[in-house]
Amino acid sequence: MDLSHSEQDEEFRRELRTWLDQNLPQEMRRMEFWADKAEDEQFQIRREWEAGKAKAGFAGIQWPTEYGGRGGTPTMKAIYDQEMALANAPTTVNPLGLTFLAPTVMYLGTEEQKKTIIPELLHNKTIWCQGFSEPGAGSDLAALQMRAEKQGEEYLLNGQKIWTTNAMHGDKIFTLARTGPSDGSKHAGISMLLVDMHQPGVEARPLKQMSGASEFGEVFFTDATCPTTEILGAENEGWKVAMLLLSFERGSSAIGQYTEFRKMWDEVAAAARDTDRDGRPAAEDPVLRQALAKELVELECLKYHSWHILTQTSKGKDLGFEASMTKLQWSETFRDLADVYSDVVGPQFQVAGKPGVSRGELTTMALWSRSCTIWGGSSQVQRTIVAERVLGLPR
Ligand SMILES: Cc1cc2nc3c(=O)[nH]c(=O)nc-3n(C[C@H](O)[C@H](O)[C@H](O)COP(=O)(O)OP(=O)(O)OC[C@H]3O[C@@H](n4cnc5c(N)ncnc54)[C@H](O)[C@@H]3O)c2cc1C
Repeated sequence: MDLSHSEQDEEFRRELRTWLDQNLPQEMRRMEFWADKAEDEQFQIRREWEAGKAKAGFAGIQWPTEYGGRGGTPTMKAIYDQEMALANAPTTVNPLGLTFLAPTVMYLGTEEQKKTIIPELLHNKTIWCQGFSEPGAGSDLAALQMRAEKQGEEYLLNGQKIWTTNAMHGDKIFTLARTGPSDGSKHAGISMLLVDMHQPGVEARPLKQMSGASEFGEVFFTDATCPTTEILGAENEGWKVAMLLLSFERGSSAIGQYTEFRKMWDEVAAAARDTDRDGRPAAEDPVLRQALAKELVELECLKYHSWHILTQTSKGKDLGFEASMTKLQWSETFRDLADVYSDVVGPQFQVAGKPGVSRGELTTMALWSRSCTIWGGSSQVQRTIVAERVLGLPR
């Protein structure tokens, strides 16, 4: 494991910090700035701020310059994640495009796809959605039913997707549909299509989460069209493309998450000091102290795991199924830490920003943490992958 940074890496950190100091207003770093804004307005502000950051050269840190990236190293990407978390900078509005679609296009897209898709999503000109899950296909993704029938130069799509992040703001959706016979295997006959969401045959409807927000929704396809050229990978080979994409979804290094959750730990500890329990600060409760200490240890494990992964990827190693270990570790640590916060505050933790009781940002994070062990493949599914594909245990 390499824990040192080169002078070039540190220079990049200084440059990014300076840019953030000058271009990320203090008020935007605080939750109150966002609290009274409608979801659409929040999205628009973040979309524009992020496009400005891309223009300044702080996007696609690891991607080749010919496709609009910065041409940096995995370490520079980790530094970027760390600094963005430290500055409380808005997270990307285009996570599906940036984190999942772009690396997949880079890996197996045509030259034209690389040149058109990647720069546009870097500058938020196109917001991408991921249309994988269906009402009858979640963990068992290969049970998907959506059909795409070839008619001349187009596919005609009919079916439904669900839990689609950014459904209400998406411009395009990379989606899995049945284009051919299954030949006895449900993984066969699937293709990954790149579909325009601004057409009459595509209808997005919001779904409300327990936080009150509608960050995801349902997408209905009724005779929607997609040119046959708008396909990623070969026709009927979509399952392989989806598996590659999901390995990016499950993540490489979790340095950014570590940085964010370590800050969260400080706030949970502060909440424990400020919360009265039987006339004494909750932080003096020995059971709670144990739980806080356990989380600190978990966080340190996450940090060293992230450094280990970073060292591997910096040497050009392909993570493959090991990506599931990172996903498991960061999402479970996050949820456990959120559980400690709910132990500190009690059931009222669910009420965001109740004076003297809960803290708005912690409540939002605690509610969000529940979803992170589900999306991108649930923890149970990740454990099976690690057991069978990484450890080689029998089925
Ligand atoms: C916040 C959020 C955003 C999302 N965004 C998107 C998106 O943009 N696009 C998209 O396509 N999808 C998205 N999803 C959907 C997500 O990928 C699915 O929720 C996930 O794959 C689980 O599927 P499911 O919800 O149908 O649960 P199910 O598959 O029905 O699972 C229910 C429970 O059974 C367990 N289980 C299922 N199969 C097994 C097994 N073989 N072994 C052991 N346990 C098992 C699961 O772990 C889980 O606990 C999102 C989900 C969330 C929560």
